[in-house]
Amino acid sequence: MSVKTLVYSDNTEVALQLLGRALELGPAVAVAAGDQAGALAEGGAKTFRIGEASIEHLRAAILEVARRESPALIMIASTRRGRELAPRVASVLGAGYCGDCFEVEPSEGSVRVKRLAYGGSTIATEAIKGTPAVVTIPPRSFKKREERATPGEVIELNVTGAASAVRVLERRPKRTGDAGLENAKVIVSAGRGFKKREDLAMLEELAGVLGAKIGCSRPVSADLGWMDQWVGISGKRVAPRLYVACGISGTIQHAAGIRDSQTIVAVNSDEAAGIHELSDYSIVGDIYAVLPALTRALRERVK
Ligand SMILES: Cc1cc2nc3c(=O)[nH]c(=O)nc-3n(C[C@H](O)[C@H](O)[C@H](O)COP(=O)(O)OP(=O)(O)OC[C@H]3O[C@@H](n4cnc5c(N)ncnc54)[C@H](O)[C@@H]3O)c2cc1C
Repeated sequence: MSVKTLVYSDNTEVALQLLGRALELGPAVAVAAGDQAGALAEGGAKTFRIGEASIEHLRAAILEVARRESPALIMIASTRRGRELAPRVASVLGAGYCGDCFEVEPSEGSVRVKRLAYGGSTIATEAIKGTPAVVTIPPRSFKKREERATPGEVIELNVTGAASAVRVLERRPKRTGDAGLENAKVIVSAGRGFKKREDLAMLEELAGVLGAKIGCSRPVSADLGWMDQWVGISGKRVAPRLYVACGISGTIQHAAGIRDSQTIVAVNSDEAAGIHELSDYSIVGDIYAVLPALTRALRERVK
């Protein structure tokens, strides 16, 4: 069964991943801002280029392309922008919507999707009835197409978004220490096992030796305010080659964010802590003794 799909992501790499799946299902159209349009057209999508990528312009553009092209499926990436956008599009179209789907399978009159439920402990299979279906897709759910596709055309699209109801009061740069967690190859992460903010220096030392980014559990960020971003179901979902969880108990909300890590190492003094079950390597011990020793040992090895 061939299904026409409309794809959008503010991130070109993720847009190409969505396009990879769309082309498996049938013809693909894309909405893209600026330079991104070239990459998507090259990748095989009939691409509608817009000048401005505010949420209102994107919503108007996707609605206009949906009107012209009648896609059966609208796939938008589960980036922060995509999660804002998709429900707005679905509500205007009166369409069914499902968020964070990692599998999408259209069939006659409906689209079957899979996504994590109950904090990542189970997978739910759901069906969206009616056309079009609107879904958001987490990054890395699909692979971009390796073979060359027949390039699509680029069509300039002029849309005027409604006046924004959002007023930007201030812009602040992100702290660099905990930025870029999603793409990090190595992450060392702090939990409530750390007694004081200054103790994070131990983790920074270890991160320095491993060339790692620093993450944390939600309480360390949301309750204690020691870092901007946390790892887990309500925070960043990460997929490093190595994830070192230090003083983290390993609740399902945290586990859901690290399940794509290749190797997980846990340092926790409680032998019964759930994180040990999730880990490939467990150290049952006090972070205040283990982390400095680990840092010293690794330094010796790289000398
Ligand atoms: C809707 C919702 C969403 C949530 N989303 C997230 C999320 O995205 N990410 C997330 O992380 N949490 C999330 N949580 C919170 C989650 O339920 C847990 O409360 C949190 O993950 C626990 O953080 P922790 O492991 O740092 O702390 P704790 O559970 O308090 O664990 C601390 C651990 O440190 C160990 N420890 C203590 N001292 C030492 C020491 N000296 N040496 C070694 N080990 C030591 C203890 O044995 C313990 O296992 C969410 C909760 C809700 C309700």
